[in-house]
Amino acid sequence: MNKIYLSTGNKGKVSEIKEILSDLKYDVYSKSELGINEDAVEDAETLEGNSLIKAKFLKKYTDDIVMSDDTGLFVNSLDGRPGVYSARFAGDECDDSKNRQKLLSELKDKEDRSAYFETVITIIDSNNEIHQAKGRVDGKILLEECGEHGFGYDSIFMPDGYDKSFAQMEDCEKNKISHRKRALENAKIILKGLNESSNN
Ligand code: IMP
Repeated sequence: MNKIYLSTGNKGKVSEIKEILSDLKYDVYSKSELGINEDAVEDAETLEGNSLIKAKFLKKYTDDIVMSDDTGLFVNSLDGRPGVYSARFAGDECDDSKNRQKLLSELKDKEDRSAYFETVITIIDSNNEIHQAKGRVDGKILLEECGEHGFGYDSIFMPDGYDKSFAQMEDCEKNKISHRKRALENAKIILKGLNESSNN
């Protein structure tokens, strides 16, 4: 069985990824199962760049396949901000609640509240080849927080076609339509191809 190491230590993400990849012939491990507790310095200006930095960092420790993800919330009337800086929008402490309040206050007088989440996944395979997969979900930023579930910007983001925020959805409902799920489905196509070529 081939192994994949994930750059994330987030338990929720690890189990979501394991579930989505469960029908492929891969054993999936988190970064901490490789004995790494440090984080890469994410100083690129794009999701693609930061996702690649995290994957390359992990690849230094293993010859197996590595996979990393990076996500941002892009708000159209703010020229795409917070985007790649979503985690640190309101400061280096990465406080989700402060990030949401800052976004709501910047959008106070804006009519256009359209926005999208995007995730970029990087896979570096056992031949050191780099592959990237993306997923996106469009929606809008609400006028105030709604819902108790989720994390990050979930309580102020309503996906198109729904009348509730991500935070008003159960995890399983959000995880069917989320940016990360869509990126993972695209990553799965890449992994399937790698698996088939290694079996030939
Ligand atoms: P990361 O790349 O997954 O660490 O995400 C960067 C930032 O985007 C996080 O700090 C969160 O605030 C936000 N974020 C990522 N994914 C989600 C999501 O599914 N819902 C809400 N916020 C998210």
